[in-house]
Amino acid sequence: MNLILFGPPGAGKGTQAKILEDRYGLKQLSTGDMLRAEVAAGSPLGKKVKAILDAGHLVSDDIMIEMISSRIDQPDCAKGFILDGFPRTVPQAQALDEMLERKKKALHHIFVLEVDEGILTERQRTRVAEMKAKGQEIRSDDNEETLKKRLNVYREQTAPVLPYYESNGRLRRVDGMAAVGDVTAAITSVLDGGKGGCG
Ligand code: AMP
Repeated sequence: MNLILFGPPGAGKGTQAKILEDRYGLKQLSTGDMLRAEVAAGSPLGKKVKAILDAGHLVSDDIMIEMISSRIDQPDCAKGFILDGFPRTVPQAQALDEMLERKKKALHHIFVLEVDEGILTERQRTRVAEMKAKGQEIRSDDNEETLKKRLNVYREQTAPVLPYYESNGRLRRVDGMAAVGDVTAAITSVLDGGKGGCG
């Protein structure tokens, strides 16, 4: 079973992806985590993308498409994957459809976690304060200014991807303002067949 989770930064995609990973034996593929790992490792790709991540801009479609294409071929994706942070542009969505067709794989469910933007700033402040209190390292793009930019990028470049999936009835909207467990329940009721599949 292969899924996509959409939603603005801080909507809870990562939290839900981890829960679904455990419950269904799927593999979370967070492109943000993959890029941050490259930065941390100081790889040539990491050096190339660090400033882009820090500025809250998007890494080029070519790099991202190649990254996902090779990642979903790995054995840990055999039971299925959860895309978290990809696709983020219409060309990425088109390339994903093409690559899945080539690889004879399908997208089974696509969800968008809908949240009020105001709550994201609030959630971020709380998260950063909690992490600081625990002495944890704060991500270099986890500040209010970069969040604003990332929300703009989401509105301008990622939100237009939604009609791409909505047009053939594949997109399901989930209330991301609900409690974590309720968001999970809304998703799993679809995955478990309560509300049927989406092709
Ligand atoms: P995330 O953790 O998903 O919010 O991603 C963190 C950052 O990684 C984003 O702000 C972008 O700079 C970059 N990034 C992650 N996924 C993509 C993608 N699919 N396309 C372009 N840039 C991405």
